Amino acid sequence: MPRILTDCPHCRAANVLIGLTARRNEILPYYWNCYGHCDGCGKGVVVIVQCHNTDLSSSNANLRDVSGTTCTVFPTPAAPSVPEHTPENIASFYLQGLRAFNASLWDAAGGMFRKALEASLKKIHPTTDRPTIQKRIDNLPPEIGVTLAMKQWAHAIRVLGNDAMHDEEPFNEDDAKKLKEFTEAFLIYVFTLPERVRKQLPETAAAKPA
Ligand SMILES: [Zn+2]
Repeated sequence: MPRILTDCPHCRAANVLIGLTARRNEILPYYWNCYGHCDGCGKGVVVIVQCHNTDLSSSNANLRDVSGTTCTVFPTPAAPSVPEHTPENIASFYLQGLRAFNASLWDAAGGMFRKALEASLKKIHPTTDRPTIQKRIDNLPPEIGVTLAMKQWAHAIRVLGNDAMHDEEPFNEDDAKKLKEFTEAFLIYVFTLPERVRKQLPETAAAKPA
């Protein structure tokens, strides 16, 4: 059966090789409807293939390698997204974390999520010392608006309590997933929501202090 190398549009796993059952389109010449599923999440994928030279029903090729072939994958894989109003450098760290996470690179993902969090904390509450990320979150003054529940959540994430001395400890999938969820919520909390609220205020109240 033909196969296609693609990112899963459902679970976003990167570079999944999906086996396809190919059926020729009986109305449009040179078009094939191909059906398969992601082995990671089991969800179905349809690939519409335009192909002039190959009988896909008897092919074992990776469709990406067949010259003159155009493939459209449905549903369309969603691009990883960053919470809006996140500063550019922090958004870049977070996005790198997401890409690594989707490729099952737990250490790379965990490292980038921590970097995104650390940079966020420095942005909203600059300090000269270098405590663990968890302590930085604990030490945020009330006016920044991070709730007690969010501080308690930070305590539940094992890797946030590690300092630079423990950076050699590998991340596992569970660590990386918890850190990803916390980082996303934190970015929404400290960047997305305040800016959304500010935009709804009357102009004078919304003006940022000089
Ligand atoms: Zn999947």
